[in-house]
Amino acid sequence: MKFAQVIGHNDVKKRLIHSAKENRVSHALLFLGPEGTGGLPMAVAFAQYLVCENPGDDDSCGTCSACIKMEKYVHPDVSFSFPVATKDKIKEPKSVDFIEQFRKAILAEPYLNYMSWMDAADIENKQGIISVHESADIMHRLNLKAVEAPYKIVIIWLPEKMNHPAANKLLKILEEPPEKTLFFLVSENYEELLSTVVSRTQLVKVSRISESDMLTELTTNHGVDKSTARHLHHKSNGSFSEALQLLDRAEERTVFQQDFILWMRACYQLNVKVINEFALKLNERSRDGQKEFLIDCLDNIRECLLINYANRSLVRIDGEELTTLARLAPLIHINNADEFVEEFNKATFHIDRNANFKILFSDLSFTVNRLLRMER
Ligand SMILES: [Zn+2]
Repeated sequence: MKFAQVIGHNDVKKRLIHSAKENRVSHALLFLGPEGTGGLPMAVAFAQYLVCENPGDDDSCGTCSACIKMEKYVHPDVSFSFPVATKDKIKEPKSVDFIEQFRKAILAEPYLNYMSWMDAADIENKQGIISVHESADIMHRLNLKAVEAPYKIVIIWLPEKMNHPAANKLLKILEEPPEKTLFFLVSENYEELLSTVVSRTQLVKVSRISESDMLTELTTNHGVDKSTARHLHHKSNGSFSEALQLLDRAEERTVFQQDFILWMRACYQLNVKVINEFALKLNERSRDGQKEFLIDCLDNIRECLLINYANRSLVRIDGEELTTLARLAPLIHINNADEFVEEFNKATFHIDRNANFKILFSDLSFTVNRLLRMER
């Protein structure tokens, strides 16, 4: 990964490159920043710069054999440690046991976050840790001489997931670092790190991504329009991984919301034809899918109440979504709100108990008709 692919943070890039040129790279750097702001890509880009055979003034070359290996995350002198968990036959899990999944995940999304990593490694229901077995494995890796690059670099992603024995072992290594070895710790949570570990490192702060930097990235590389990009920056609070997740969910939500509005309108007018079409369409879905639809409808109902009664700052939606929902909102009010919640909960309860969905859905539609026509 070249520095050019890391979003924003030009001052940090400059400082790192300067330290490399002056030959003053500290043996242990702590890249510290909130999730999704770019600590991991920054550490990777710097590692690539350091092993690159023809580094330029502001970036690695991207074409030498070292850069090509780095782009595939297979450079023999740059290794990774990250949280893992037991799985199948792996009882003493180490990063090396999961390296293939890790490469795949980080290649697909360099702004990888903990949850998506656990998901990609198929250990999402477990607690990911960096254990003492990993620290031992780091020692083992370092005992092998640097083969190609002037340095051996160990990138430890989320060192806060180290348990105590592992952190203590790492501390010993940091206290007496092997020659020509660099440690890049990439952390999101300073307070969960051993202070003795922190004091052995030099801090590289990675702050939240600025609005203009995120706007450029989202509009240029993700086909997002400017106003959506601005909205995503605001909602994600400058975290790129969060912005990407919001973008995914937004597409899904818009479809759900359109369906919700159409269905409510059909209920209000008691348009049996449209209601039946909906029943057939939803009947094709799994029970979970049907429940998901009803739960999402309830969310929309709650948003309507917030639009009517609460401070606008509590409403979680905005833009076109808000405008559409605001038109429906007056029909949902104090006099029918409780019954809405009750009826929708009842319906999801019956779906779980294998009720006939088509009958259940048309019953619910008639109830909704009555509720929507209730006086305010
Ligand atoms: Zn290169």
